[in-house]
Amino acid sequence: SIKIEEIFKEKEKTFSFEFFPPKNFKATIEFGINVGQLLKLSPDFVSVTYGAGGSNQKATFDLVDYLQNQIGLTTMAHYTCINATKDKIKSDLAYLDEVGIKNLMLLRGDPPKGEDTFVKSEGGFNYASELISYANSLGEYSIGVAGYPEKHPEAVSLDADIDNLKRKVDAGGDFIVTQMFYDNQRYYDFVDRCREKGIKARIIPGIMPITNFSQIKRFSEMVGTEIPQEIVNAFAPYKDNKKKMYELGIYLGLKQCIELLENGAPGLHFYTLNKSRATVDIFESIPKILK
Ligand code: FAD
Repeated sequence: SIKIEEIFKEKEKTFSFEFFPPKNFKATIEFGINVGQLLKLSPDFVSVTYGAGGSNQKATFDLVDYLQNQIGLTTMAHYTCINATKDKIKSDLAYLDEVGIKNLMLLRGDPPKGEDTFVKSEGGFNYASELISYANSLGEYSIGVAGYPEKHPEAVSLDADIDNLKRKVDAGGDFIVTQMFYDNQRYYDFVDRCREKGIKARIIPGIMPITNFSQIKRFSEMVGTEIPQEIVNAFAPYKDNKKKMYELGIYLGLKQCIELLENGAPGLHFYTLNKSRATVDIFESIPKILK
């Protein structure tokens, strides 16, 4: 199995896709078809999220095993502090080792549905930085961490949040994947501020194309991402026209990706939502010279 850090040594830019474990039979079949489409794009790596509350942990572990060992993709497992004691983390990571997973996206996690604040599990951790230190004491991993160009919603300020990001990198985080954003300037400013604070790790932009405006608006509000007014306005005429809305979403997503790459972003991480069409449509239209 390949560590993502090794891929970085060979490539200035990486293109990666994020999935979540499908929830039922139909979703599983559709997911298989979509992964088939995405394979044609030869991603450098893929990642699988870890369900809120650690609810479908087995599904995450089964899926990373399958993608890595049956499909042959370099795979990263997300993992969180939710419901995790040190003992549990140790045995979970031992299991992932057994199936050859060396790439971990380590997070604090969000409180389970219906609860507003994160509560540390007994014998567990309060922050991703602590989980990262602990994982690093257990083995050799390539570790991804989350970064928030528009600040994590609970952080007192962007500055304090970047200090936290530095703690995560210092604890052993090897690279950063950002929360979704729609104003590239926010990403550029964030990267500058991270560099000023001495964070040297790659900061890979997380991309979520707007193919369904109301859905993405809802997600954005949840995670504290602002959709610029000009984008809101651009979608306004197409509220009831799915096809046009999709076309505009692809156009704006492509434009965002091209500008990021032209301005030195070290690749792109696509939040696929387990679909393939938008990622394929955007990725295939990015000029080769930028990849
Ligand atoms: P942390 O880095 O621990 O930060 C949490 C908050 O605490 C921040 O506000 C931070 O500023 C603050 N903080 C940290 N340390 C301190 C300190 N010492 N003192 C005071 N404040 C502090 N969630 C899932 O459940 N499953 C997933 O698979 C998943 N994947 C994700 C992938 C990406 C790329 C991103 C961006 C997010 C993902 N999330 C996932 C969501 C994530 O779990 C939430 O955003 C969560 O609320 C914060 O996680 P974190 O790892 O960034 O937390």
